[in-house]
Amino acid sequence: MDRLDQLRGPVPPRPHDARAIAALAANPGCARRAVLDAAGIDKDATATHLGFPAPFGQSPFAITRGNAFESLVKESGCAELLRLLRERLGLPIPQASYTDLGDVGGNPSAQLRHGHTRKLIDRAARDSDDAGTLFDHPLLRLDIAGHSSYLEPDVVAFRLGARFHIVEIKSFAVVDGQAEPDKVAAAARQAAVYVLALRDMLGELGHDPERVSHDVVLVCPENFANRPTATLVDVRKELAVLRRQLARMTRVGSIVAALPEGLSFDLARDAAGVPTRPADELREAVGTVEARYVPECLSTCDLCFFCRDEAAGEGSTDLLGRQVRDALGGVATVAEALGLADGSLTPDEGQEEIARLLRLADRIYAEVS
Ligand code: SF4
Repeated sequence: MDRLDQLRGPVPPRPHDARAIAALAANPGCARRAVLDAAGIDKDATATHLGFPAPFGQSPFAITRGNAFESLVKESGCAELLRLLRERLGLPIPQASYTDLGDVGGNPSAQLRHGHTRKLIDRAARDSDDAGTLFDHPLLRLDIAGHSSYLEPDVVAFRLGARFHIVEIKSFAVVDGQAEPDKVAAAARQAAVYVLALRDMLGELGHDPERVSHDVVLVCPENFANRPTATLVDVRKELAVLRRQLARMTRVGSIVAALPEGLSFDLARDAAGVPTRPADELREAVGTVEARYVPECLSTCDLCFFCRDEAAGEGSTDLLGRQVRDALGGVATVAEALGLADGSLTPDEGQEEIARLLRLADRIYAEVS
């Protein structure tokens, strides 16, 4: 059995979505997240069983609204989407074929779906006719820290002539031509993950990866009505950041190899799917893999409350944010920093400079307070 399967236990790997990958790249130095994600472990269920449920998830209202809007855009073989591509973006699409890759003959297996997506994308890339072609739910794959992860997409890959575009459908509103910048930025980061994965696929199939456009089509409701509008968003910057961050990510293979034999994050679910593993045992197992908590985890990782609690228990300087942690380089805990500052602790080799600065800060603080 693969070591990552062993770590996960007898449940299928949880598929990654682009949001998770964009977030994964946000904390590339965290070995814990790299291992759990590479093994496809359900971090949400893990955090809940540990007693620290994640603060994420859309409200049922937002989910219903998002699903309704997506259905509207995609109904009748993406007829509304085609109208937008023609009218709003002026794309000359004489006709279009629509293929839903959501399952293959009723079989939802990721491998099968990925193989089917490859076959159809390969055929579309070789096809010289100019007919527009829409592929709904293409199952893509991306190498993350040396391991392949399937992307469960919510997008349409759209081919026009020799170029492919990613279409991202979002339910946040565009009002008077403007949308909330952070929502557009998050959508662009996610779309960049799909562009990268589709480029990888084209490259593996022997086609030019650059045939996947860096211009993605963002479809949103206009002016709070449900009528969709489309905008082209250039994701070159996001692609560059993503590539750099993925390349920099800790190599998960060497971390996994160093973990104790027999380690598992299995929740030991019973027949009804309820986790039965003692929480303390799971806490110990999760604690085996080093974390690198940063306050940004609070908006990007399901384990954030658990890791924050752990970091607080250790008095870790990680809690103070990246800037402070980097400035304190090599000083792992707040207690150590305070000891160096008041002189009660002798600096280790290499800590002399930071100890001098901490003593100086301590003196200044004492003088002004
Ligand atoms: S919350 Fe924990 S596991 Fe997730 S990225 Fe932060 S430190 Fe790593």
